[in-house]
Amino acid sequence: MNFDYTPEQVELRKTVREFAQAEIAPQVMEWDEAQTFPLEVIRKIGELGYMGTIFPEELGGAGLGYIDYSIVIEELARVDPSVGLIVAAHTSLAANHIYSMGSEEQRRRYLPRLARGEWIGCWSLTEPEAGSDAAGTRSTALRQGDSWVLNGSKTFTTNAHHADVCVAMAVTDRGAAQHGISAFIIDKDTPGFRLGRKENKLGMRASATGEVIFENCRLAGSQLLGRQGEGFVDSLKVLDGGRISIAALAVGTAQGAYDEALKYSKQRKQFGRFISEFQAIQFKLADMAAGIEAARLLTYHAGWMKDRNQRVTKEAAIAKLFASEVAVRVAGEAVQILGGYGFIKDYRVEKFYRDVKLCTIGEGTSEIQRLVIARQLLK
Ligand SMILES: Cc1cc2nc3c(=O)[nH]c(=O)nc-3n(C[C@H](O)[C@H](O)[C@H](O)COP(=O)(O)OP(=O)(O)OC[C@H]3O[C@@H](n4cnc5c(N)ncnc54)[C@H](O)[C@@H]3O)c2cc1C
Repeated sequence: MNFDYTPEQVELRKTVREFAQAEIAPQVMEWDEAQTFPLEVIRKIGELGYMGTIFPEELGGAGLGYIDYSIVIEELARVDPSVGLIVAAHTSLAANHIYSMGSEEQRRRYLPRLARGEWIGCWSLTEPEAGSDAAGTRSTALRQGDSWVLNGSKTFTTNAHHADVCVAMAVTDRGAAQHGISAFIIDKDTPGFRLGRKENKLGMRASATGEVIFENCRLAGSQLLGRQGEGFVDSLKVLDGGRISIAALAVGTAQGAYDEALKYSKQRKQFGRFISEFQAIQFKLADMAAGIEAARLLTYHAGWMKDRNQRVTKEAAIAKLFASEVAVRVAGEAVQILGGYGFIKDYRVEKFYRDVKLCTIGEGTSEIQRLVIARQLLK
């Protein structure tokens, strides 16, 4: 085993950290208040190569692996979790579905522009009636000659309102249950494709989450992604990789909250002493640090396996479950350490506390992660 970062990974962390401090930090609260999607910054992240970290260079990507990708998401989330979420949904859900299941032609058509951040991707699985039970998808795709005609709607799609390309799942054979759902690539200008409501959220407010609607949306046969009927099964494989990014998002968010709490504890005096001198505060900091370190190791372990093309269903679910639950606790303790100031928007922990909750919900709730893990243990 080797726990060292490569010199390139050390450099990568430094570069993303500096970028996030310079380009993201000054605007975080403004974006949050106004629910502004930070398009300009996303384009710059694309120019740096981080909208396609995990894809090969010949397809416009950075040619790196899931540990590197985790470092990128972590460092973005440490400053603004919304930016981490935008990049994660774009990369490991939308673009990776095309990269992993797409034909050579689809890869060449979509990947380079997605990987360079010239196009933004979104990935629509969830529907109003099909959340955790995603196999309960109701949107349909009917074959008509050489075309597919999609009808239905998707909810809670990250990036929907800013996406150039949407990957969506729809039922192609109701009788075939889980093997009757297919994936499609939809260009934003396709007639019959439109955006519905944009959600007003508790946290992750700079990342747009919204509805995607198909009304007799006609697609060429070539827009089918992967094999017909295998879109749901492929989605589960895509989610295995996606969950590593949500674990990294949770680690970065927790780290951001912890850093603020540590700094504050060394500046705030009560009863004539810095609050960091109270054992109650020290124990909180120790538990926070221990949780973050363990979560980071689980995340990198799942990433390390993924880079070796090993199946990570269990490991990614464990990392996502553990990291997200640790992160929720860490953000809560960070607010507690700041006392009343933790409740005030002038201090960053207030926002981490709101943002972090998404990590136990998106890409499968904690309850669903436990089901996934248990299924793997018992099979
Ligand atoms: C900000 C945000 C961004 C998102 N981005 C995307 C995206 O880009 N693409 C996308 O497709 N989806 C996205 N989602 C959707 C997300 O993946 C779902 O919200 C999530 O999977 C849960 O589905 P649900 O909200 O319908 O909850 P439900 O499935 O209705 O769950 C409600 C509760 O019941 C529990 N529950 C359900 N079934 C079981 C069970 N069998 N056993 C035990 N407990 C159970 C759940 O854990 C939860 O606590 C996003 C959601 C949010 C909030």
